[in-house]
Amino acid sequence: MGVLGASGARQTISRVLLTVRMSSSSSSPLLLINDPKYSFLKELGLKEENAGVFNGQWAATGPVVESVAPASNSVIAKVQNGTVADWEKAIAATQQAHKQWRTVPAPKRGEIVRQIGDKLRHNLTNLGKLVSLEMGKIQAEGIGEVQEYVDICDFATGLSRSLAGQVLPSERPGHALLEQWNPLGVVGIISAFNFPCAVYGWNNALALVCGNSCIWKPAPTTPLTAIAVTKLVESVLVENKLPGSLCSLVCGEGDVGQALVKDKRVNLVSFTGSTEVGRIVGQQVQGRFGKVLLELGGNNAIIVNDDADLDMVIPAAVFAAVGTAGQRCTTTRRLLVHEKVYDEVVERMTRAYAQFESRIGDPLEANTIIGPLHNQHGVLKYKAAIAEAIASGGKVAYGGKVLERDGNYVLPTIITGLKGDAEVVIRETFAPILYVIKISNLDEAIELNNSVSQGLSSSLFTNNIQNVFKWIGPEGSDCGIVNVNIPTSGAEIGGAFGGEKETGGGRESGSDSWKQYMRRSTCTINHSKQLPLAQGIKFE
Ligand code: NAD
Repeated sequence: MGVLGASGARQTISRVLLTVRMSSSSSSPLLLINDPKYSFLKELGLKEENAGVFNGQWAATGPVVESVAPASNSVIAKVQNGTVADWEKAIAATQQAHKQWRTVPAPKRGEIVRQIGDKLRHNLTNLGKLVSLEMGKIQAEGIGEVQEYVDICDFATGLSRSLAGQVLPSERPGHALLEQWNPLGVVGIISAFNFPCAVYGWNNALALVCGNSCIWKPAPTTPLTAIAVTKLVESVLVENKLPGSLCSLVCGEGDVGQALVKDKRVNLVSFTGSTEVGRIVGQQVQGRFGKVLLELGGNNAIIVNDDADLDMVIPAAVFAAVGTAGQRCTTTRRLLVHEKVYDEVVERMTRAYAQFESRIGDPLEANTIIGPLHNQHGVLKYKAAIAEAIASGGKVAYGGKVLERDGNYVLPTIITGLKGDAEVVIRETFAPILYVIKISNLDEAIELNNSVSQGLSSSLFTNNIQNVFKWIGPEGSDCGIVNVNIPTSGAEIGGAFGGEKETGGGRESGSDSWKQYMRRSTCTINHSKQLPLAQGIKFE
């Protein structure tokens, strides 16, 4: 393990490029899919080369790309991407499937989603390992992602019997006033690399019980997970004699994403990704008066008040800052610590990070708790942020180094000495970098928490009930997720998930998020023989 300078970084990138070139020009034994260690790939139905488009049939016409394992930068298997022409075929089939599906009673739709959940349950470990291999998160987190999809299927199955509208009192005699929730049509799902399975699951399960068909454009670097998930869903649809195009897939780059965003046949665009791309997507969908659900970047803080239980703070903050190697939208990026406990917190956090150093490694190994970054792009961003932090007066209390080994490994990093409004602090860098900032009271901490442009997740550690209710109320956190005595990451599916401001304002998963996947019809039904007008208007 050692420090990697600029020339070292160049060597690593050359090694990566060499691996990719060798794999593309050499015979198949170099693909990980042919290594018995990764036999779960073939058990999931993956092959050396996979069609990345499903519209009821598997057929793609775009370029063949390689999916690479972040732990070694070796090629797992190949995928033939979709083109805009493939998109055209898929969206037409997906729209057609909706016309059949919308007439199926909601509880029967729920039964299909229950079966999808069961199928995932039986493939939990294999699929979890694939998520881990392709994304780079540790196996426990990979399996946890699939478990989230299973959980939301259970939730959606129950929901399918209670998609309730209200019956409201009409002011007119002999009239009924009620709400009926109807399907939207086609839900287009664009997902990010860091949750290649769960994000689709949240959308897919709810969209289906609400009577919609789905079309998915996954991140370009995690296509194998998308193909394996779609194959499992396909098997349920086939067993139930339903059209496969109810859950279509088009793997590809931004051009396919743009085709989805601009297509009027896509009634709801559910986009998960960076604020930068989300800003464009949101405006484009609004421009055609489509519905949009945005789940964008975060810059999440934990406040450690002077009355916090530090034995809880340290493990919680470490989990939320270094878990998934800092590549969760809910990763803790700012630790706002009361001056009375600041020195102790920095010292204990630094010690905890050092203890985990020996457990950075292959995400599929049982002992590993910190995996690699997803790709070299992430490593470059990590290095640039640390250089900027140092140039702005920050001090590296721990880490700050790229590890000299195959794969995209970096040391999780703690930076002290920066102001809460430093450029690098207010930006989301998708890497395990934690900025520890000193605060002198809770009001100042809340102001800092709310001062960034993102508004996803936030936590307060305190033992004071007055602080708790201030924090969750109108003078408290302005985020979508507001926690007390737990970290910023690790949300359950039962609540609505999402954030405010530049996080996009969307809500997915539990609570009443389902309403975003349906259109509300307000129905007034006259069952009398008179025609009274509202507001007592006489028109005679
Ligand atoms: P990204 O914005 O680079 O890509 C997201 C998706 O958008 C990919 O599928 C990509 O191919 C597609 N895309 C890119 N350009 C497009 C365009 N012009 N039109 C349509 N689609 C386009 O994000 P990423 O690097 O994959 O993911 C990391 C980001 O996602 C982070 O900012 C993270 O915070 C955020 N994220 C948010 C949540 C949430 O729930 N709030 C969850 C996961 C990730």
